[in-house]
Amino acid sequence: MLEDDFGREVSGVRVSLTDRCNFDCVYCHNEGLGDTRGPMDAQDDEMTADEVVRFLEVVSEFGVGKVKFTGGEPMLRGDLEEIIERTPDSMEVSLTTNGTFLPGRAEALKEAGLERVNVSQDALDPDAFAEITQSGAYDKVIEGVEAALDAGLDPVKLNMVVFEHTAGYVEGMVDHVAENPGLQLQLIEYMPELTGRPEWNIDIERVHNWLEEKADRVETRDMHNRRRYYVGEGMVEIVDPVENPHFCANCHRVRVTHEGYLKGCLNRNDDLRSMGEMTRDEIRETFRETVANRVPYYGEYMVKEGDEWVVNDEYIDAPVTTS
Ligand code: SF4
Repeated sequence: MLEDDFGREVSGVRVSLTDRCNFDCVYCHNEGLGDTRGPMDAQDDEMTADEVVRFLEVVSEFGVGKVKFTGGEPMLRGDLEEIIERTPDSMEVSLTTNGTFLPGRAEALKEAGLERVNVSQDALDPDAFAEITQSGAYDKVIEGVEAALDAGLDPVKLNMVVFEHTAGYVEGMVDHVAENPGLQLQLIEYMPELTGRPEWNIDIERVHNWLEEKADRVETRDMHNRRRYYVGEGMVEIVDPVENPHFCANCHRVRVTHEGYLKGCLNRNDDLRSMGEMTRDEIRETFRETVANRVPYYGEYMVKEGDEWVVNDEYIDAPVTTS
């Protein structure tokens, strides 16, 4: 496995298949690239299935054992089943989706080799859901979650971004997974620096404290030092990467944008490397370079000066973007 200078092995990749989305969630950061809203039909800038598969074959040679497909909304790709089918057998495949297209396709995805799925669900209330996602597809998402469970995808994780608009629904969502075997909940810290609305932020430590009280059992995972809270039949995890050096020190994923750029860190757009029309050898080399240039974002690229996080002087004049 390739390792960066900070001892972080790259064991997984997160591949965006499109930046199109049928939702327009108010908190969306589009893999750190900005606004998602745009045409819904297939775009020329998206990697083809062949390009995605070629990349996965190359990185599997380096022992990368996990791929997560994301977007935008990856299920807008009609060839998603084909891509999963052609993913090297050595890789565990997961998917993050808004769930609206799972009814009718969950079985085929499972058959193609999909193992687990994360479905974004920010509230159990259709009105709140419509407000957050700027769409009214609540019923379809609920149906999608059912379809994923019926197809045998395991686990089915509900992703909920915790911020001002959703904080009041956390308790309801925790109760929901506690009562429904097969479901897990990921409470995701809102990323104010990527969405530009710091006033929507809430203190995630309060949610930790509340869960600590509510849970029957608490477990700490090595990865990211994440705590798992077991409540009834369900499990709840909090993903809190913001200003969290510990989280970055345990980051083992390289990202790929829908246009085929390698990205060493979600929060950085100054080390993008295009795979364009590359040969396998060139992709190998570019992947090596990306890994070699990875640095933990909080604690290394960003450092604390008093109460403020500022860019480390070492990286201010060192943009490495290639295209
Ligand atoms: S280094 Fe930190 S901010 Fe960057 S992708 Fe990894 S966990 Fe996220």
